[in-house]
Amino acid sequence: MTIPESFVPESHPRYLSLIIREKLVKGFRNGIVVPEGLIAHGRGEAFDYIIGEISRSFAVEAEKVAVALMLLSEKPVISVNGNAAALVAEKLSELSEVLNAPLEVNVFHWSRERVKKIAEYLKSAGCKNVLYAGDAEIKGIKHFRRIVDRRGIYSADTVLVMLEDGDRCELLRESGKKVIAIDLNPLSRTARMADVTIVNNIIRAIPEMVNIAEELKTWSEKELRDAVNNYDNRVVLRKALESIAEYVTGVQV
Ligand code: ATP
Ligand code: MG
Repeated sequence: MTIPESFVPESHPRYLSLIIREKLVKGFRNGIVVPEGLIAHGRGEAFDYIIGEISRSFAVEAEKVAVALMLLSEKPVISVNGNAAALVAEKLSELSEVLNAPLEVNVFHWSRERVKKIAEYLKSAGCKNVLYAGDAEIKGIKHFRRIVDRRGIYSADTVLVMLEDGDRCELLRESGKKVIAIDLNPLSRTARMADVTIVNNIIRAIPEMVNIAEELKTWSEKELRDAVNNYDNRVVLRKALESIAEYVTGVQV
């Protein structure tokens, strides 16, 4: 008997969700994802369920503004952890290229070996600009997420984060940086702390941001600035919560 590569039949009603789990488990076996990352994914999945597992208009609006902000920034950086690498390495590489922003490996469960593994994985997915030197620290953070790259997050003016901790998000902002967060949980501290919050699954948000970046690269600086200036993150978070309430109360039982 040959053992199949995947145990999930394509006809399964939750095919995509199960394939994503398989990707994370594979990442776990390869030393990229930590067990805690699998739990964090579970929290994300639960929120995705009540969002409806699609990109809602409040997410697309935030993705547009996020891309505009990255294009206007002098030193934009994309912070990548184990789950993000395991799920969307190729698309993160494309986003890095189109935005001219490095991917920086930054993890809570830190070891030199794990950081190197994630960096190698991102490179093998096509990314030419991966930072992971860990030669600087963000003051005020006690856990390992403080360890950053001098040429990356340390000196960045805008940081795109995903599956982030609320406390680091707050400190990045306090150090004068703009923070864009992708987080399925609109109630998390990260979601409430960020300048721009994309309430969406990274498996949808990152590919969408690549396409948006191709389009917004043709915009003038004024058009980009107007998009950023007209944006209100609190309104977007409110829309996310209202949308969830509307969706779950509309389900026929
Ligand atoms: P905070 O400290 O900001 O309140 P948290 O403690 O709620 O965060 P963590 O476990 O630190 O959350 O990080 C996981 C976060 O990432 C969760 O809010 C979860 O909803 C979100 N998340 C998990 N998987 C995904 C995904 N695939 N796409 C987007 N967000 C995700
Ligand atoms: Mg947390």
